[in-house]
Amino acid sequence: MSTLDQRFADALQAVTARGQRRRLIPAQMRPGGRILRDGQMLIDFSSNDYLGLSQHPALIERACAWTYEMGTGSGASRLVTGTSDAHLSVERKIAAFKGTEAALLFATGWQANAAILPALFAAAPGAAVFSDRLVHASMHQGCAAAGVRQIRFRHNDFDHLEELLMTRGAAAPARFILTESIFSMDGDSIDIHRLTALARQYDAFLIVDEAHATGVSGPFGAGLSAHTPGGVDLVMGTFSKAMGSAGAYVAGSQLLCDYLVNHCGGFIFSTAPPPGNLGAIDAALDLVPQMEEEREHLARISERLREGLHNLGMETGPSDSHIVPAMIGDATATVELSARLAKAGIMAAAIRPPTVPSGTSRLRLVLRAPHQIADIDQLLNSIEDCR
Ligand SMILES: *Cc1c(COP(=O)(O)O)cnc(C)c1O
Repeated sequence: MSTLDQRFADALQAVTARGQRRRLIPAQMRPGGRILRDGQMLIDFSSNDYLGLSQHPALIERACAWTYEMGTGSGASRLVTGTSDAHLSVERKIAAFKGTEAALLFATGWQANAAILPALFAAAPGAAVFSDRLVHASMHQGCAAAGVRQIRFRHNDFDHLEELLMTRGAAAPARFILTESIFSMDGDSIDIHRLTALARQYDAFLIVDEAHATGVSGPFGAGLSAHTPGGVDLVMGTFSKAMGSAGAYVAGSQLLCDYLVNHCGGFIFSTAPPPGNLGAIDAALDLVPQMEEEREHLARISERLREGLHNLGMETGPSDSHIVPAMIGDATATVELSARLAKAGIMAAAIRPPTVPSGTSRLRLVLRAPHQIADIDQLLNSIEDCR
């Protein structure tokens, strides 16, 4: 027994006392937007598998085929023996999808953000780093690892960003802007045209995280950055959400990718993604550009859900995407509602502090292409009954 065990126990006791103790509950994704949890089949409004691709036969088949062909592991980091033809061809395919010169694969989205930010900041000591107040924890991790103090602008408020660029950015030797294109908790999207124009005007290096947009938004599902070719200096995104498997990409210029191959520890010292993962990514990249019908369906059911919630007198914040927060406010009430919905056959995750600011607890409702209109109506009826 470690002498630190008492401290671990005390820390757990403290989160329990705050009502913030988290536990792992086993669940199994099922086709049709369903999930099996604790022996109960639920309609799943919480997973980020927005297009249902994690259960798609094409991804499963290619993941298996590439595994049979190449094995379960890549053997080493990319710079040693870990780069296969498959890695290079998938990276070319990602670059073509995103409309950039080059792309690089990373193990996960969290790992990518945590690794690329320190590598980029190292090229520009003393740079001013402007970030949206709601950016993902992985970007905070990257900034913290680099010892960078972020200058945070109000969520999705580019007037505020511009003001800060003028006042705090002018004297700095370089500027970075960090944001997401669709936000994970509020489900709102950025004005990519204004953002890219600001970045050019103030000579700032623009980094956009498309974790929630990749596959779902923009031309051919390529994300919002695809509306402004060349406008975003570094786009990152994940394959773990709409793309149905795991892993992440960085897309940008060849120069940028070459720089990361030489300076990004999280790329250099991490084993290359395995063939099965590459197969799933490759199949998703073939399917996603043609899934316009699924994307339209997703937009329609999202609108139906927002309207339905408004009719029940509930607010959905600034959401304009397939992520729809049903605002409750109080954390305990949100957790209780989520539990009652589970009894009624609906998986709707309660999101509360510290994930979101206090007083803004909500059900984070995630729409997915396999959902039918009847599922949305059942969700709305259940919320009405359970409230
Ligand atoms: C999910 C997410 C990540 C992390 O991606 P993983 O592949 O799950 O590690 C990074 N950024 C944002 C905005 C995310 O929502």
